[in-house]
Amino acid sequence: MANAHESELHYPFGDSVPVPGEVIDIAPGVRWLRMGLPFALDHINLWLLEDGEGWTIVDCGITNDATKAAWDQVFASALQGKPVIRVVATHMHPDHIGLAHWLTEKWQCRLWISATDYNGARLASQSTTGFGGERSAAFFASHGLTDPAALAKVRARANYYAGMVPQVPDAYRRLMDDMTVDVGGHPWRCIAGYGHAPEHIALHSEQLNLLISGDMVLPRISTNVSVYDLEPEADSLTLYLDSLARYETLAGDTLVLPSHGKPFTGLQARVRQLRDHHDERLADVMAACRDKPCHAAELLPLLFKRTLDLHQTTFAMGEAVAHLHALWHAGSLARSCGSDGVWRFAATR
Ligand SMILES: [Zn+2]
Repeated sequence: MANAHESELHYPFGDSVPVPGEVIDIAPGVRWLRMGLPFALDHINLWLLEDGEGWTIVDCGITNDATKAAWDQVFASALQGKPVIRVVATHMHPDHIGLAHWLTEKWQCRLWISATDYNGARLASQSTTGFGGERSAAFFASHGLTDPAALAKVRARANYYAGMVPQVPDAYRRLMDDMTVDVGGHPWRCIAGYGHAPEHIALHSEQLNLLISGDMVLPRISTNVSVYDLEPEADSLTLYLDSLARYETLAGDTLVLPSHGKPFTGLQARVRQLRDHHDERLADVMAACRDKPCHAAELLPLLFKRTLDLHQTTFAMGEAVAHLHALWHAGSLARSCGSDGVWRFAATR
């Protein structure tokens, strides 16, 4: 959802963005690059950190020829003759881990990632887990999505994850909350976050006053917070909102390097905006469920005031369920499954 209060944030690089294959220097030894994505969200930001005699890459892009070609261009022009010695993935989503297998193979180096996301990526690249296929379609149907065409597309999308992440490296190095990773003499602290991915790792350098926020804090759009068929009773939104508290305590002038959008300052303002945004949504959902018991699909027009394509509809369904579940787990809603097999949520107060 687009941020109506974006003007409260400051973009120190103005409108400059790197074209694929080129870099923009953010700070000494920190370079910003971008790769394309075949979605409405059309890009991902990646980071190169100078690491002594080499470079650490943070996030990878999806597996396709265009992304590989852009990386090759970066390798030819932006590494100052030094090798890549480490690949970090903030989390398991395809745009972040997709090319990790190719990058670690090419440079003979290790992937660093949380254990939860490593194992999730391994499983998802080998099967259908939560992003498409029969179980995913059944999950959406149980939350009121009845459009046969949409369900058929979800069923047909069983290969969704593996298409962008055909392979995951055979071994990895584990990142954990509060662990410090030394990159070229600068300590970067891992901050685990939940609700968007199983165990997302953001990286904070107090010395450099930088936060690589991954997908946990984005300037322009709100982070996708969904419930998936693999964990159908999840309370992702509460996990996400609780996780935001970890960023609020960082310095007010921290430069945030997000995976989508532009580097910005105004972290505390952005966290407050995100909290307000979800509070409003929760109030809307609560009001609707006071009128009559509601399922997730019928809340889509209330929560998303624009036309959604299939990719956006599945994300939107997951988000609608996440809002319902936050209120359900808090005791404000009770849920019951109708004779039609659909979960409906009614206000308890
Ligand atoms: Zn993500």
